[in-house]
Amino acid sequence: MRYTSDSLKTLTDTVLRGFGCNEKEAMIVSDHLILANLTGHDSHGIGMLPMYALQVRDGNLIPNQTPVFHDPIGAISVVDAQRGFGHHMTLLALDHAMKTIDEHRVAVLGLRNAGHVSRVGTYSEYCAAKGYVSIHFVNVVGHQPLVAPYGSKEAGFATNPISMAMPIEGQAKPLLDMATSTVAFGKIRVASNKGETVPLGYLVDADGVPTTDPNPMATAKSGALSAFGEHKGSGLGLFAEILAGALAGQETIADAKYIPEGVFNNMFSIIVDPSAFDSADEIARRTTQFYDFIKAKPTAKGVDELLMPGEPEKISQKERLANGIPVDAETMRQIYEVAELFDMNEAQLKPMLVEA
Ligand code: NAD
Repeated sequence: MRYTSDSLKTLTDTVLRGFGCNEKEAMIVSDHLILANLTGHDSHGIGMLPMYALQVRDGNLIPNQTPVFHDPIGAISVVDAQRGFGHHMTLLALDHAMKTIDEHRVAVLGLRNAGHVSRVGTYSEYCAAKGYVSIHFVNVVGHQPLVAPYGSKEAGFATNPISMAMPIEGQAKPLLDMATSTVAFGKIRVASNKGETVPLGYLVDADGVPTTDPNPMATAKSGALSAFGEHKGSGLGLFAEILAGALAGQETIADAKYIPEGVFNNMFSIIVDPSAFDSADEIARRTTQFYDFIKAKPTAKGVDELLMPGEPEKISQKERLANGIPVDAETMRQIYEVAELFDMNEAQLKPMLVEA
C-alpha cells in the first residue's frame, strides 16, 4: 500500500510522542525517518520504529536526552549523546562542533554513545546546507558483528556506513552515503522470505565461501555479510570502526556489550569550510564542472542513465512525493503492535493514514 508522506509523517510523529519524545524531538526524528523512506532507504525509515520502541521500553534509548558537550580542544569537539535519539543528538552535536569553524575553518566531531543515527547522509545534507564540506564515519555497536572482514569466515564488524558531500547552493551534491557491506542485512531477510537467491558478493557461508543462499544467514545468522569491493571495502569498514569507535567513541564492537535490540552508533566527522581553500563559489564551480563532465560520459551497454551519488535518492524522493511511500502490511502491523506498549493502538493510528 502507498501512503502520502504527510500522513505517514503525522502517524510517525504521534508514535514518537507516545514514546515520550517532546514536540521538537518527535519532529526531528519523524522528518529524518520519512526522508529516509522518501529517498528510497526503507531500511532506515519508519520500519525502525519497532526497534526504537523496544529500546525505549528497556531504557536503552532515552527520549529528550541532553547530551554532554565537552569543551572543544582546538577544532576537536567530543559530544556524548548518552543514548539519546541519534537523529536529534547528532544535529545538536554538529551544531556544537561547528562553533569552532569561525576560528579554525574546520570542525572535527567525535559523537559517542548515540542511539541509532539512521541515514548518515542526513548529516552531510545538514552540513552542506550551511555551506560546508563534510565526511562522516560511523560504527555500530550493541549487536553482534554482521560483516566478515575480507578473508575471514566469521563476522568482525557491522555495516559501518560512510557519508560525504560537497555543498552546492545549499545542497549536498554529490552525496555519497553508503554502508560498507555490499547490502544491508534486511535485504538478505527479504530474499530468504521470498525464497529467492542473492547475487554472489552479498554473503559468505559458514566456511567463508561466497554463497547465493540467503537462508542460513537470514534464519540462523550462519555465515556473514560481505564487505563491498573485497579487501578494499573491508578496509574501509574496518577504519570506520577504528575512527568512530576506537578514536571518537569509547568502544568498538570488540568490547561493546550486546543488548537485546541493541543498535547504537558512534560517529567521527570532519566538517570543512571550503572558503579556507579558495572562494567557495570557485570550488562550487569546479565541482559542478566535474559533476557535469562525469554526467556527460557515454553510458555502458545496458545502462540507461549514468547517475551520480545522491541522484538515485533524489529520483526516489520526487517519485514518492508524487505517488506516495510504499509500506508493506507487516511493517504497519509491527508498528501498531509496539504502539500498544505505549498506550496507543491501531484503531487510533490507522485513520491517520491517507492512501496515495
Ligand atoms: P545504496 O547502496 O543504496 O547507495 C550507496 C551510495 O551509492 C549512495 O550514495 C547512492 O546515491 C549511490 N548510488 C546508488 N546507485 C547508484 C548508481 N546507479 N550510480 C551511482 N551512484 C549510485 O546505500 P546503502 O549502502 O544500502 O546504505 C543505505 C543507507 O543505510 C544509507 O543511508 C546509510 O547511511 C544507512 N546505514 C546506516 C547505518 C547505521 O547504523 N546508522 C548502518 C548502515 C547503513
